[in-house]
Amino acid sequence: MSQNGLDLLVLGAHPDDAEVHVGGLLALAARRGLRGAILDLTRGDLGTRGTPDTRRAEALEAARILGSQRIILELPDARFGEGNPERDALIQQLRLLRPRVLILPHPEDNHPDHRRAFRLGREAAYYAGLKNYPAAGEGWRPEAVAWVGGVNPPAPPDLVIDVSEVWETRMAAFDAFGSQFTENPDLPPTRIAHPSFRRGIEGRAMHWASLIMAQWAEGLWCEKPIAPALLRLVARLNPGDGPR
Ligand SMILES: [Zn+2]
Repeated sequence: MSQNGLDLLVLGAHPDDAEVHVGGLLALAARRGLRGAILDLTRGDLGTRGTPDTRRAEALEAARILGSQRIILELPDARFGEGNPERDALIQQLRLLRPRVLILPHPEDNHPDHRRAFRLGREAAYYAGLKNYPAAGEGWRPEAVAWVGGVNPPAPPDLVIDVSEVWETRMAAFDAFGSQFTENPDLPPTRIAHPSFRRGIEGRAMHWASLIMAQWAEGLWCEKPIAPALLRLVARLNPGDGPR
């Protein structure tokens, strides 16, 4: 890790959470020469499909396609708590990776792991900056925290990022999770393996893009006023037009 740390860190509860929502952002960051990474809290070891090993291999391949670093913490899927051990593990990673912008799962997502990951991530981002907080590493607080909209965003995004130029790469990374997102009559049916889940991703990206006259876009939500670090990130991703 460079002295200066990451431009962008995406926190997920499971491998594939980042790719479902902000794969385009990560691919675009890599294309612009920014440093992006994905931090998964678990290996998704309780998923209906795929073994922890398959999921790990798929996750590493997806990150390679996006041009992102990936760190998989091995907290227990669905059973990770919200206590000091989990928070400290996250604080340690934030102090090591030093992200300027941290992107979290949606706070009201229907999956309890995603909601818990949001709360843990937000708290860790704050405490990581307290110099005397007793976790490994030197104090570091992300300059901005934002979150994804989940699969049914309750409101329009606060920021819309044009990811048209990396859309195929972004969907190739999504498709790398073959055990999760591919219909297969030999495996138990799941909501995310149904073709409508993939179409939902495309549909949302088309809709956000229509608001800014682009082909494909991804949205971010954040506290107001929008932190300058977040505006700077969007301006670097979409330099032609600046923040939108
Ligand atoms: Zn998930």
